[in-house]
Amino acid sequence: MRIADTAINVVRAAVSSVTDPEYADLTIQQLGILEDVVADSISIRVDLVPTILGCPALDVIEKDVVAAARASGYDVTVRFCMSPIWTPDRISEDARQILAEEYVVTIRPREGPTKCPLCGNTALQPRSDVGGTACRSVEWCPDCRNPVEVVRSRQMGER
Ligand SMILES: [Zn+2]
Repeated sequence: MRIADTAINVVRAAVSSVTDPEYADLTIQQLGILEDVVADSISIRVDLVPTILGCPALDVIEKDVVAAARASGYDVTVRFCMSPIWTPDRISEDARQILAEEYVVTIRPREGPTKCPLCGNTALQPRSDVGGTACRSVEWCPDCRNPVEVVRSRQMGER
């Protein structure tokens, strides 16, 4: 017996609305953490791509995904994929806007200067390499005088 597509769709809908523990306005779908929901004959598995954005939060995300699936009526296992590798490119456009407006977080672009999400100034000054987590750095916008968190990616510049 095969697990029906409807079950997979129910689980997908349930887990895609799980929010990131750190960015409560953003779902794991918007952040590109949710990769796929797959099933074999006996179980449903949720594949997640570990993000550097919320790296310390993966345990919480895993628990929330399992709980959301269970609430929709299904037990799932969670697998963190090694491939594809998460990059900021996986963050949706609407999520980028929320990150900029609500959290003053910007994504370092693949090319060109990093922009202040508040005023668009491109002359950000480095402040700290550590930031809120090891995944982010804090820069300073001399124009609007705000600290800006910049999301980095290990993959940046490696292509
Ligand atoms: Zn600014």
